[in-house]
Amino acid sequence: MITVQSFVFSEFQVNTYVLYDESKQCIIIDPGCNNPRQQAELTGFISAQELKPVRMINTHGHIDHVAGDSFVKRTYDIPLAMHEKDVFLLEKALHFAELFDIFAEQPPVPDQILKEGDEVHFGNSVLSVFHIPGHSPGSIVLYAGKDAFLIAGDVLFKGSIGRCDLPGGNHETLIKGITGKLMILPRETVVYPGHGPVTTIGHEYDTNPFLQAK
Ligand SMILES: [Zn+2]
Repeated sequence: MITVQSFVFSEFQVNTYVLYDESKQCIIIDPGCNNPRQQAELTGFISAQELKPVRMINTHGHIDHVAGDSFVKRTYDIPLAMHEKDVFLLEKALHFAELFDIFAEQPPVPDQILKEGDEVHFGNSVLSVFHIPGHSPGSIVLYAGKDAFLIAGDVLFKGSIGRCDLPGGNHETLIKGITGKLMILPRETVVYPGHGPVTTIGHEYDTNPFLQAK
């Protein structure tokens, strides 16, 4: 069974997630930790739980979600995985850091490209990859069907959806992806978003103002 540990990091209040199971292997998702105190919080948790990081994943390439990539790579020397359509954002990371006034180091080049339908394995667990563009061209959602949760990145929030006015964004594409791929999942599926509180597919299906039929 997968345990989800969340952290809130950086000026952008990004949710960083550590996923682990009984094997003690873990995956680090969207390491937003961009100062020593937050970086120590992440590594302190991993040491205290005696976890072994095996991979890092960016749900997408926006600067707040990748600001700590370089730190994680340096600390654990694990592969970085993401969708290829957001790699251009990583390449311009320092430009975006300046633009959005956030401290970040240049992220490493991704080691592994994830695409729709891929599976990410760690320990005894598996995550399915959904490609849901619209917030960014290469946004992915990681779905743990057996454990009934998903890591949504900035695709879906409690009561909202990702903004679509950044480079490569598209509102219709995002809505289509959310309705076609996420709203068909079991209602009890827990949604861990890239910012803000946890929700469920059922709650968003019923109440999210962006997903109600016009
Ligand atoms: Zn974003």
